[in-house]
Amino acid sequence: MSEYERIYLSSPHLGEWERKYVNEAFDTNWVAPLGPNVDGFEAEFCELTGAKYAAALSAGTAAIHLTLILLGIGKGDEVIVSDLTFVASANPVMYVGAKPVFIDSERGSWNMDPELLAEFLEARRKVGDVPKALMLVHLYGQSGDIDAIQALCEEYGVILIEDAAEALGSDYKGRTPGTFGKAGIYSFNGNKIITTSGGGMLVSDDEAFINHARKLATQARDPAPHYQHTEVGYNYRMSNICAGIGRGQLKVLHERVTQRRAVFDTYVREFADLPGIEFQPEAPWGKHTRWLTCLTVDPAKAGIDREKLRTTMLEVNIEARPVWKPMHMQPLFAECECVGGSVSEALFDQGLCLPSGSNMTDGQIARVIETFRSCF
Ligand SMILES: *Cc1c(COP(=O)(O)O)cnc(C)c1O
Repeated sequence: MSEYERIYLSSPHLGEWERKYVNEAFDTNWVAPLGPNVDGFEAEFCELTGAKYAAALSAGTAAIHLTLILLGIGKGDEVIVSDLTFVASANPVMYVGAKPVFIDSERGSWNMDPELLAEFLEARRKVGDVPKALMLVHLYGQSGDIDAIQALCEEYGVILIEDAAEALGSDYKGRTPGTFGKAGIYSFNGNKIITTSGGGMLVSDDEAFINHARKLATQARDPAPHYQHTEVGYNYRMSNICAGIGRGQLKVLHERVTQRRAVFDTYVREFADLPGIEFQPEAPWGKHTRWLTCLTVDPAKAGIDREKLRTTMLEVNIEARPVWKPMHMQPLFAECECVGGSVSEALFDQGLCLPSGSNMTDGQIARVIETFRSCF
């Protein structure tokens, strides 16, 4: 047991309404994977994000899996995926028997590099082997360069899917990332900017697509009085209890963004004089939520490396994490193609995510700052 209180990377932060919606579910016995909170959560999510149709699911990963199934992606197909991401972006590609191809990040936003993508697509077009779909990940609360990537997808006939699991509350030229592609997915896992204790959302402009997703998510029941099934189904719906938490969390999303950005601003101000530190930039095209405050540490200038900083903080029970280990460096994907990779490798080598919770106290933030500064 450490004598220090644990400071988490990102922990749940409830508002005033979650309990009311959950109590309502208990009081009316809607304790099932359907009910008024699920319907309300979907409708309110659409209102907030500008999405046309939404299906509340048991996880963001489930939303990606259903998307790939609905797009008919399977054995022999390839899906382009951002190289620098959490493995949940790429795992569903494996579930359906397809193969991911990874594209490196660009320095400006840490997200998929449109120039590398253009080179890759042109090379593949020449040999008549363009992948079916592309999964653009919006990392750590910062959207990728959607216009550039969407234009390439249109030019080469690639279906755009957006993994916006980490970017709810952010903005791309005034619109919500996740609502540009054929499908967008969000996560309400416990460490995300808002949570349902676990859950996800699938959105699309295509009503039939979302209706079909809902059907597949409930064991693919055909409309018949008895149990009849024509397709393989899944048990992926969100419970009415979790959706109640989600409805309350939606009300405080904007507040949470403001709070996380304030945590980030404090770090920037307090570390301004430290050498070799660079924060993940905010791209010119839209608001970064600062879901996580991420920075790189150049050991040649800082005189200390990322790992030493991380372990020093861990010694006093402060949770800081390395930036995602790129997919092309994962043993799981050793056989998969990666276009570029040096940027994501450098970001992994030097990148650190600091405690960023919207419910951190001033005292906790001060303790992170003091510990971090003491290393220099
Ligand atoms: C969290 C996350 C997911 C998966 O969401 P779950 O709800 O945990 O299944 C997918 N992609 C990215 C980039 C994530 O960060």
